[in-house]
Amino acid sequence: MGEQRRVAIVGAGPSGLFTAAALLAQAAEPPAIDIFDRLPTPFGLLRYGVAPDHASIKAVATTLARVFEAPDVRFLGLVEFGRDVTAAELRSGYDAVVYAVGAADDRRLGIPGEDLPGSRSARQFVSWYSGHPDAEAQPLDGVRSAVVVGVGNVAVDVARILLKDPADLSATDMPDAVLAELRAARIEDVWLVGRRGPEHAAFTTPELRELLETPGIAVTLEGCDLAAIDDAGLERHARANLAAIGRALAASPASALRRLHLLFWHRPAELAGDGRVRAVRFEPTGGGGAPLTVPAELVLRSIGYRGVPLPGVPYAEGRIPNLEGRVLEPDGSARPGEYAVGWIKRGPVGLIGSNKKDAAETVAALLEDLSTLPRREPADLDALLAARGVRPSTLEDWRRIDAAEIDRGGLRGRERTKIEAWHELLGLVWGAPSVHRDGDVRPA
Ligand code: NAP
Repeated sequence: MGEQRRVAIVGAGPSGLFTAAALLAQAAEPPAIDIFDRLPTPFGLLRYGVAPDHASIKAVATTLARVFEAPDVRFLGLVEFGRDVTAAELRSGYDAVVYAVGAADDRRLGIPGEDLPGSRSARQFVSWYSGHPDAEAQPLDGVRSAVVVGVGNVAVDVARILLKDPADLSATDMPDAVLAELRAARIEDVWLVGRRGPEHAAFTTPELRELLETPGIAVTLEGCDLAAIDDAGLERHARANLAAIGRALAASPASALRRLHLLFWHRPAELAGDGRVRAVRFEPTGGGGAPLTVPAELVLRSIGYRGVPLPGVPYAEGRIPNLEGRVLEPDGSARPGEYAVGWIKRGPVGLIGSNKKDAAETVAALLEDLSTLPRREPADLDALLAARGVRPSTLEDWRRIDAAEIDRGGLRGRERTKIEAWHELLGLVWGAPSVHRDGDVRPA
């Protein structure tokens, strides 16, 4: 048996952890694996993207966490790629580097008024209700009507959270401040707006049904006529979506405290307001519809996530260019020893579970290359980070955060309550952290 190979994975979200699991399962001689993350908490979008009321998907974390039980797998939290460690440093310290950083930004509409207060991305809203430490507070005070632009599963998630009786969310792991804001909110109307027809919508049927069946809501359909849609050539899931909408309309009460308006064949042309958003002006995109102005104090654009370039790593159009996971240079040649996985590899589509197959593909390419890749001298990365004043958090630190969240939840009769404040997370990691003059938080 040769000297053990070493692999770095940048990002401890689902794609990074599925990659570690695939490496352990597929390699004849499992490599040592260091998994880096900017946060002191692993699980990425599983923790900060999957809706808090989707506990069964979140439970995937329990399975993924098993990779940390393997003898040579380390978690190095609070290490930001590009700031605390560079691509060149990782390349020289590991035989292979896998970028599993997801898609941290979002697409924009590019219309007037998009940056008015009250208009934001669904990603920001999801981060807030998921207790991400970087999320800004999302005040709902004065919001009666909310517009969600886009008809994918993220749009469905945020619409459901806005429409649900907050009492039905009180058993989730949402931070206390989020639940308090939702309890105080008085949202009556939520508009879910697609630029094409319901037969083209990106949402999946179980997610759509769950939204339509939110207790206590009325459902309306605008901008299209279900009966006029010829469903003969449609795919099965599109037909199922149409049937779900038809059933919800038939069962909808004439009036309710909260209303879900499904508006199709319209795109926002302008967000109007006087210092904050007050209304959205929509233009028809087809189907013979008419222009329409909808009052809205909150607008969430939910038109897709977008990858962010990593310093020193090829990037094009929201992704790392790659062939079956092998990172490609602009001239199309492969960069030996560098790989991509997850949303930064294939774009921001697919469910958590899609990462399993995706990771298997990247890992197959990596293992195929490994015998020809130069064996890197294990550079003392730990010493390099220490010299820079970067002290990575460990799995034990995460376990302390985990236990504190479970304790906090226990006091409230829930399984867990998320800790969302940086100073509390860092307090659990380091004892009493200190904020340096440059605004950086460092160990005491
Ligand atoms: P998505 O599924 O790609 O949906 C994006 C939506 O935005 C589409 O309706 C798209 O319409 C629309 N859109 C794009 N550009 C637009 C524009 N300029 N103006 C108006 N509308 C525009 O993306 P997502 O909702 O962010 O979800 C990302 C992935 O995560 C998906 O694969 C999703 O299934 C998954 N996810 C799953 C769950 C779950 O299983 N519960 C929850 C959340 C997310 P067009 O089709 O017309 O382009």
